[in-house]
Amino acid sequence: MPDQKRVVIPAQSGRSIRVSSGDLVRIIDIKGQQVADLWAFTPDMKDWLSTSNTRDIGERLFPKTGEHFYGTTGNKLLTLVEDASPGPHDMLYPACNHALYVRAGFDEHPSCQDNLHKALASEGLALPFTPDPVDLFQNSLPQPDGSIDVFASINPPGGYVALRAECDLLLVVTACSVDHYPTNGGVCNEIAVEVTPAAWSAKQTR
Ligand SMILES: [Zn+2]
Repeated sequence: MPDQKRVVIPAQSGRSIRVSSGDLVRIIDIKGQQVADLWAFTPDMKDWLSTSNTRDIGERLFPKTGEHFYGTTGNKLLTLVEDASPGPHDMLYPACNHALYVRAGFDEHPSCQDNLHKALASEGLALPFTPDPVDLFQNSLPQPDGSIDVFASINPPGGYVALRAECDLLLVVTACSVDHYPTNGGVCNEIAVEVTPAAWSAKQTR
């Protein structure tokens, strides 16, 4: 049996997941239309996935299959191995955060930013800032006139992306907390993360 690890992230929460170089990571939208925010940090926390570096080096708004996500130093951190979703995905927006919900009229509301920091705290870590995340399954492509807006995700139930870790990483994944239409279709659901160790991934490809 493969030594596969599966973590289900409940709606409006986040989890930290440590992976090793070569591991295959599937991030699965079980019920559909649910955005998952992704962060990746090197174990020493000196580098992390940079959406701006990834756009710059890849010369695209989002990597194509086979392309990479880069850190602030320009090192490859992750490769997009498979996109079993219709997309689109976002790398322009910040994580949803307390101030965003206050502007929307909610005083107390979970957020991906808070859930990132809670997940890091569970690892005994604290960051004094919030890197921008990769917003998987988020439907917010720029419009031809340069405007941006978030529309309802079109990801179907079971839509997923598969990523290969290019080095040891601490990942944090959140099931986005926006429970008002349209981002997540008006309802928040869970996200599953499956990690297949590198040795088993290699066997699978024989
Ligand atoms: Zn969010």
